[in-house]
Amino acid sequence: MTDPAAGAAGTGPGEADWAAAVAAVRDLPADAQVQLICHVNPDGDALGSMLGFGLGLRQLGVRQLRATFPGPPEVPEPFRALPGLDLLVPEEDAYPAPDLVVCFDAASESRLGGLVDRLATAGTALVLDHHASNTRFGGINLVDPRAAATSVVAEELLARLGVRLDAGIAEGLYVALTTDTGSFRFEATTPAVHELAARLLATGIRPGDISRRVFDTRPFGAVRLFGEVMCRARLEPTAAGGNGLVWTYATLDDLARHDQRPYVLEALIDSVRCTAEADVSCVVKQVRPDEWAVSMRSKGAVDVSRVAVALGGGGHTFAAGFTGRGSADDVVASIRAELDKALIEA
Ligand code: 5GP
Ligand code: MN
Repeated sequence: MTDPAAGAAGTGPGEADWAAAVAAVRDLPADAQVQLICHVNPDGDALGSMLGFGLGLRQLGVRQLRATFPGPPEVPEPFRALPGLDLLVPEEDAYPAPDLVVCFDAASESRLGGLVDRLATAGTALVLDHHASNTRFGGINLVDPRAAATSVVAEELLARLGVRLDAGIAEGLYVALTTDTGSFRFEATTPAVHELAARLLATGIRPGDISRRVFDTRPFGAVRLFGEVMCRARLEPTAAGGNGLVWTYATLDDLARHDQRPYVLEALIDSVRCTAEADVSCVVKQVRPDEWAVSMRSKGAVDVSRVAVALGGGGHTFAAGFTGRGSADDVVASIRAELDKALIEA
């Protein structure tokens, strides 16, 4: 779930991009249909940016407004109190040919699953994102690799549109910001991030309640599941050019035994990456018998986005992921083989 942004070189949107995005919203006809889409398996930045932005559009008077994401329409429990959830529809109920489609936190079209066709059927496709690897797949692209979260980009666009932050909008943007900065712990936590947090908190949202709900609450079954999965973690000190790799895995059977939903596993990486002896950490999560969703983190010695891209995924320099095939051991072997090629020059 946590998502340290790249800190890599790269420039944000230019004035022409901002102007085009503002015009795309301002020039919508009164009866316009607007479809918001965030990435598959949405995290706090994806959902929080999308719903916060959606509530901003609603404030501007957009009435035909829907939000969705590809895959089963299940919102992870930590996000079930987010304001604006009434905007969410299952993917099959997304507008087939909206006037405007806005994509959130998706680095590439592949992250939009079956909704990718809306890029072609929509009048205008607007992309809001902060991944350095973003492929600029929209007609208008607001992509800022220096932004700590997609919600930083969303808030700037809302401000340029003249939207007044209220508590509903702010809560989504705040959840997004805290998710992707690891609650203001990661390198991307700039003075501007704290200034944005201050503007959001000034609307009266309650950071203690929000953090407890989003980060610090899980079912007892998940607590016991985490215990089991942590116990089987493996440390490989010689991997990643001697910088060390720590990894573990969780199976569908583990989830079933503890009666847990797959999204509870998103928080596991935060416990695994604490390992002092490893620069790189990895959690391999079974999603089908021979398919695994992989989360990787690095403390600075390895560009895990390079590993992820080499294996068909993507992400940021220090937080990335991909879909692996075969057994958990096969997946870890594929990572091990890529790590040495992804060492960051000192
Ligand atoms: P997480 O490990 O929290 O799921 O994801 C960390 C980062 O890697 C996020 O920026 C996310 O967008 C990216 N990521 C995770 N899984 C995938 C994947 O399968 N494909 C791509 N392109 N990016 C991924
Ligand atoms: Mn993000």
